[in-house]
Amino acid sequence: MFNIDKFNEIREKLEKYNNTGKIVAISKNHPVESVFEAINQGVYIFGENRVQEAKTKFVKIKENNPKIELHLTGPLQSNKVKDALLLFDVFHTIDREKIAKELSKHQQLLINKKFFVQINTGREKTKSGIFPEDTKDFLFFLKNEISLPIQGLMCIPPIEDDPKYHFNQLQNLAKKNSLDKLSIGMSGDYTDALPFRPTYIRLGTILFGKRN
Ligand SMILES: *Cc1c(COP(=O)(O)O)cnc(C)c1O
Repeated sequence: MFNIDKFNEIREKLEKYNNTGKIVAISKNHPVESVFEAINQGVYIFGENRVQEAKTKFVKIKENNPKIELHLTGPLQSNKVKDALLLFDVFHTIDREKIAKELSKHQQLLINKKFFVQINTGREKTKSGIFPEDTKDFLFFLKNEISLPIQGLMCIPPIEDDPKYHFNQLQNLAKKNSLDKLSIGMSGDYTDALPFRPTYIRLGTILFGKRN
């Protein structure tokens, strides 16, 4: 099931804040039929958290629809880097040197890819991401040692906190590091993300319903 009315309603709101902002429809744990439903209604940007699940669902779809743009929004493992580069267009979760080095081994596959660095703004033990104070050094490493072009920053606020605090922190970090793109906002907090003019909001439940 895909809720196109909700999609259009949120897209209009997003465009009022950032006219180039886009919704990433997070289809993880939802059947490929729901993806088809969305595609038939004009949606072309999707997000998945796992390389294997994305392969199963999207290899054929991407062959038949060159316009489809696939985003990786879950953690990337080194042994999946090549597969991921063959399938995904935008990566939201670059979070350690090891992964960056692995990516840089595939220069010919990096053309036209976009990368976001995930920041652990809540400094949570259970979450991946660079600590805010390490952002500058990590970006320096990516730029000067790996030549990985970074578009912007991504975060997932701790559930118990006011998301605005974290989005604000992320925006300040981005500005300080001369980046202007933010990947922020999920079903539960996208309304708080909108005033920060996100480049991408990542919506699952609110568009596809509850995950299995
Ligand atoms: C699952 C997930 C989403 C979508 O979450 P919803 O709350 O269902 O909108 C967005 N971003 C990331 C990183 C996710 O893992």
